[in-house]
Amino acid sequence: MSKSPRLSSQGLSHQDVLARMREMRTEDAHWKEGRTWSLVYNAGEDVRRVAAEAYTEFMSENGLSPLAFPSLRRFESEVLAIAAELFHGDTATGTMTSGGTESILMAVKTARDFALAERGISEPEMVMPASVHPAFQKAAHYFGVKPINVPVGPDFRADMAAMRAAINPRTALVVGSAPSYPQGVIDPISELAALAQEKGVFFHVDACLGGFLLPFAKRLGYDIPDFDFAVPGVTSLSADLHKYGYAAKGASIVLYRTPELRRYQFFTYTGWSGGIYASPSMAGTRPGGAIAAAWAVLKYLGEEGYLRLARTVLDTAKVLREGIAAIPGLELLGKPSLSVFAFSSKTLDIYALGDAMEARGWKLDRQMRPPALHLMVTPAHAAVVEPFLADLRACAAHLASGEPAPDGSAAMYGMLGALPDPKEAEGFILQFMDSLYGNE
Ligand SMILES: *Cc1c(COP(=O)(O)O)cnc(C)c1O
Repeated sequence: MSKSPRLSSQGLSHQDVLARMREMRTEDAHWKEGRTWSLVYNAGEDVRRVAAEAYTEFMSENGLSPLAFPSLRRFESEVLAIAAELFHGDTATGTMTSGGTESILMAVKTARDFALAERGISEPEMVMPASVHPAFQKAAHYFGVKPINVPVGPDFRADMAAMRAAINPRTALVVGSAPSYPQGVIDPISELAALAQEKGVFFHVDACLGGFLLPFAKRLGYDIPDFDFAVPGVTSLSADLHKYGYAAKGASIVLYRTPELRRYQFFTYTGWSGGIYASPSMAGTRPGGAIAAAWAVLKYLGEEGYLRLARTVLDTAKVLREGIAAIPGLELLGKPSLSVFAFSSKTLDIYALGDAMEARGWKLDRQMRPPALHLMVTPAHAAVVEPFLADLRACAAHLASGEPAPDGSAAMYGMLGALPDPKEAEGFILQFMDSLYGNE
């Protein structure tokens, strides 16, 4: 990429600015047509417009000061109250954050600070199944908590015996996912919570992905195990409003079982010449738009709306899973029953299949360890099930007959996956990031 252009001496007109931006997005992922299987949670144009209007209306307001903007404070506390009820937390309370990563960072920091203050742990560790989201590795890295990554069982869920064996007197936090992003399976939350409770350790449930889907799936009659504060021993939980909550980007919640636990999240500083500073989470300035849009979408959809969307998502995912499993050579990883899942192959080069699908306009995430393709299903995908499966069937048959796949990223993924030392792959990716962000 070339160096970024300089600030022009004269401004452009409103029309010109927008026209240029629309031109620049022509190569963006075609999520509105249901062609992308990650990144965008599309519940339809009506929901998007509610979020968009609420967002722009409160775009300038700043959630850093609840005193200046009682509206935002009210939106936030109502969003948290709705979430606490949804997740069976009678005494639960928390904060809205900018996303799942910030929610997780906060939960890890809170557990770390609690462990130091209440248990005298100065070299904290966190024990987690290897399938948890990388935000936990990031949190460990940022906050000086040693990550103990425990291999998952053959069903891709936390291995209880291995988790138990990994806990020691320095353990500040145990983590489980409901569900995990890579394979879409729910860890044994009740067992993990009981283990954490027995050891007197914090237990965080990462429901970033499933938080706003599971409660509705359960009401629809799906067999969903208890995964929230209904389970004794769960001390904190994260759930993303900007995923299956269908809010605008920049909205998630982190909840703690009691306000006393949340206290360890907050930050205050009174020694500043700028006045008393108090901030609930990582961010300083907190965008009012994201808070307002989350409230607006929860109110707009209501329970009926979320049930309707959950039904569409789960029905669509089921047809896709069955369709994929019926294609010769393809198999699902684990036993996913929700809205995200991965599939692999013992006979076909799965990355070549990804490239072949990409050439037909489908963007599927590639996974490693084990190599697989990944789907995250949203309501908008209901309309593309048949064309998607038809293309997948055709691409798999072509590959099986020995036809080469079109050029794509298969070689790169094959190479990265084959490197014996993950550190080598990380060096390669750092270089790639430098080039993407224009600073080679
Ligand atoms: C998306 C996700 C996260 C991280 O959320 P961001 O909003 O991308 O920061 C964490 N955990 C799981 C299971 C997720 O799916």
